[in-house]
Amino acid sequence: MTQSLETRKIAPPAFGSTHLGERILCYRPMKHGMPNLSIEQQEDKVIAHNYGHGGSGWTLGPGSARYVNSLLIDSLLGKDLSDKSTPIAIIGAGLVGLFTAYDLTKRGYSNLTIYAEKLDALASHYAGGLLAPVSMDNDHEMQPVIDQIGIDAYRFYDDVARNNNTDFKRGARLVPSYFNSREDSGLEAYVGKVMKPAKEVMLDFGNGTTRQMVVYDDGIYMNTALLMAELHDFINTNQIPIVIGKIVTFDELKEKFIFNCSGLGAAELNHDAALVPVQGHLIMLKNQVPENMNYMILVYFGEDRTEANQKVKRSFYIFPKHLPDSTPQDIGVIGGTFIEGGSADKPNLAEYDLIIKEANTFFGIN
Ligand SMILES: Cc1cc2nc3c(=O)[nH]c(=O)nc-3n(C[C@H](O)[C@H](O)[C@H](O)COP(=O)(O)OP(=O)(O)OC[C@H]3O[C@@H](n4cnc5c(N)ncnc54)[C@H](O)[C@@H]3O)c2cc1C
Repeated sequence: MTQSLETRKIAPPAFGSTHLGERILCYRPMKHGMPNLSIEQQEDKVIAHNYGHGGSGWTLGPGSARYVNSLLIDSLLGKDLSDKSTPIAIIGAGLVGLFTAYDLTKRGYSNLTIYAEKLDALASHYAGGLLAPVSMDNDHEMQPVIDQIGIDAYRFYDDVARNNNTDFKRGARLVPSYFNSREDSGLEAYVGKVMKPAKEVMLDFGNGTTRQMVVYDDGIYMNTALLMAELHDFINTNQIPIVIGKIVTFDELKEKFIFNCSGLGAAELNHDAALVPVQGHLIMLKNQVPENMNYMILVYFGEDRTEANQKVKRSFYIFPKHLPDSTPQDIGVIGGTFIEGGSADKPNLAEYDLIIKEANTFFGIN
């Protein structure tokens, strides 16, 4: 006997010109092979690298910080760190640098300094907010490490969402996450450990359009702007100094122990040619019905070329992104481009119109 699929009604958002807000262009720091999560000695410095997370920086951030911090502290290179007042430098004030400072402080380290070229308008603020380990380029044999880091990070956000984290009171919530297939989500390794199995459902947009999709009802939406604010609150409360400026070489820092969380800056700072920018286009939504925005969707399309003749992987996604200082109706973000090597001089602006077209097509809006 065939069982009929559960049907879920979703009222489509409005994508007319009065419902579209800011257009955002930003860049994922992606390292081919996997993020650089390693430690090394460079002359008299000991460096812990934590950069290159591609489109999954938030998904992995808290777990990635814990992993790299342990890697150094538990190693021979880190033996002086048994003294918790040892001076430590962290380069970068994106989510990776701030979670590194958070984790080190929770372990009792009391002499941290963050060095950052920029504090605002980072990829870490702009990111959409879907917890899913996607848009990375991991070597097959490294996947178990990435899975474990992601599972640790999921636990962190799940605690925040359930109000079980004493430091973070906001910034994560449980939201159904819809994909075309389980493979597309990257989340199957989490099932049975921290997440429940996905199931097939039929989405009904109430306009004659239906779509069969796979849903993880315990998906997590990360409100990236709020989480950055929470991280900065923690840094301020714990009086961790932030020194603004660009670091050109590790040896200009006085500290022996350095955490390199410089995102795309690591291409120059650590001479890393395998680290590339992956351009993404986002459009904020406004004047929506907030109660209708309780889901996340990610669907992939194929590869194509942009107007600057760059290779683009296109997808369509929608998340309930909401900026702290905006009205409740200004909720939602759509996007979906992945353009490796994209740069500010090749903004590929036609992608915005394609995203709007794909959004209308997906929801069956004429
Ligand atoms: C369009 C888009 C959508 C995304 N959506 C998601 C999502 O839904 N889910 C998800 O998990 N991830 C998402 N991401 C990915 C995520 O945003 C990134 O992986 C993450 O922000 C990287 O964080 P970071 O701290 O490494 O880098 P950044 O946020 O770029 O921070 C780098 C920091 O290092 C500093 N720095 C760099 N070089 C130097 C130097 N030489 N000296 C001093 N300071 C330096 C910078 O000034 C900055 O403070 C998205 C990204 C984009 C672009």
